[in-house]
Amino acid sequence: MSFSLHGIGVSNGIAIGRAHLVSPSRVEVAHYTLEAARVPREVLRFEQAIGDTLREMEALRAQIPPDAPAELEAFLDMHLMILADPLIAVETRRLIEENRCNAEWALTQQMDALTARFEEIDDPYLRSRQEDVVQVVQRVLKVLTGQPGQLPLSNLDNPEECILVAHEMTPADMIVFKNSPLAAFITDLGGATSHTAILARGLGIPAVMALHHARSLIRDHEWIIVDGNEGVVIVEPEEATLAEYRLKQNQWRLEREKLKRIKSSRATTLDGVEIELHANMDLPRDVDAVREAGAQGIGLFRSEFLFLNRADLPDEEEQYHAYRSVVEAMDGQPVTIRTLDLGADKRAPWGHRAAENPALGLRAIRLCLAEPRLFQTQLRAILRASAHGRVRLLIPMLASLAELRQTLQHVEQARAGLRADGLPFDHGLPVGGMIEVPAAALMAGAFARHLDYLSIGTNDLIQYTLAIDRVDDAVAHLYDPLNPSVLELVRMTLRAGEKAGKPVAVCGEMAGDPRLTRLLLGLGLRHFSMHPASLLQVKQQILRSHVEELLPLVQRLLKNTEPEKTEALLERLNA
Ligand code: PEP
Ligand code: MG
Repeated sequence: MSFSLHGIGVSNGIAIGRAHLVSPSRVEVAHYTLEAARVPREVLRFEQAIGDTLREMEALRAQIPPDAPAELEAFLDMHLMILADPLIAVETRRLIEENRCNAEWALTQQMDALTARFEEIDDPYLRSRQEDVVQVVQRVLKVLTGQPGQLPLSNLDNPEECILVAHEMTPADMIVFKNSPLAAFITDLGGATSHTAILARGLGIPAVMALHHARSLIRDHEWIIVDGNEGVVIVEPEEATLAEYRLKQNQWRLEREKLKRIKSSRATTLDGVEIELHANMDLPRDVDAVREAGAQGIGLFRSEFLFLNRADLPDEEEQYHAYRSVVEAMDGQPVTIRTLDLGADKRAPWGHRAAENPALGLRAIRLCLAEPRLFQTQLRAILRASAHGRVRLLIPMLASLAELRQTLQHVEQARAGLRADGLPFDHGLPVGGMIEVPAAALMAGAFARHLDYLSIGTNDLIQYTLAIDRVDDAVAHLYDPLNPSVLELVRMTLRAGEKAGKPVAVCGEMAGDPRLTRLLLGLGLRHFSMHPASLLQVKQQILRSHVEELLPLVQRLLKNTEPEKTEALLERLNA
């Protein structure tokens, strides 16, 4: 009988294939108390298992294909770090010795204690990192219980039509998939920000997660359709549904292929308006994807990712080398490095207490101004990298002109320090500010006068304008880029930039949504920056648009205050 399941589409595309069930990754373990004399042997058994797991993971690391997504190596490194952490190795050993538990029991107790500590963390991203601890412990348990190794894919008859159905999938498992031509995968657990989801997007196979009961409802070899665009899975589809999805699949593939043809063409509208398309990136390794997409530069390098998943802070040298590597890889194209935007959902891993309202707390530039040494270190590193190419500095979350003035003094201080040290940097390095707090949008004219350019962070601008927490599921349905207040603030900022003769970009998710491309063009946007994966779709929209002809409809959309008419107007604009 046919039925469908709904989850989160984490990687786009459509796949049709047969289910291949992967056994639950959680290992059932025995609990027993040891005689005192057996304790040393049990400790040895545990330590050998840690050593074997280490070798298994290092072997996996060595197998990473050169074209695998950059995150893969970082994830494995993080798992190796967890495995080496005394909280796993030393504490489990203590439990074996003091409580005389068998190794598996001691290890699961320690895992439960650690995950309970993660549960208390407010920050959803860091809280979700407990998954990594569980995954590492499960690997050790598999070794202890004599079931090491990876997912059994080698004996599949027809991997091209294989859709993996798992309760949970680990990033390390994904290395195996990179070498197997799988059609798709679906899981019960995981969310759009999990490591596995991030990797799935990089691997380019459709994936749906958070399906809750897929593993128990689907049987081996059943036909399934995975629609990663819509987050839908259809099990044992009817003939008519199959035919419909085959058609959709072909269209999707054809469109992706066709898009590649415009990779090197200029993004010019039908009436000759030149648009600049830049890409956003999080880690230096993303630079390959940026180049692959044919971006004209980096419009947003979220430097805070260099500071996450580690206990120490990157010093000036480490940061300088990281920024320099990106600048050199971009070979003369501009690289916009945003100063630290830690806080809110990207909590600083050191020091500061958890705020009641972290999105309104000591975040981004506020944190940097409160930690001048941290800020100076980063500014010096960015300035030094500017000696190797075209760097632009970008300041996040400015809310007042007083903050801007203080920030510019810091930049001046960093410049003076480098001059005194005789270190080279670009003396004309442009300094821009993000407009992502309504207060800044309302004062965009004044900000534009003191800065070289502006960049609108629509993700936060929407959050702060509509008072909707970006990371809270309960209010996600109220997160509306088309809200007239949001559009008005974007329009005002663009207008302010134009009047001051300063370029204005949009680097929030709105810039990468092809449904909104024409609207943004009509509002006057000429500089877009987005996730590399959306770049060609947005370019295609630009190539098909005539800015002058868009203006009357965009005006109507701006003036429209009846929410039910907004969608219809947008559809007309995109027709
Ligand atoms: C934004 O807020 O739109 C933005 C680009 O910054 P981030 O998503 O990193 O907050
Ligand atoms: Mg932001």
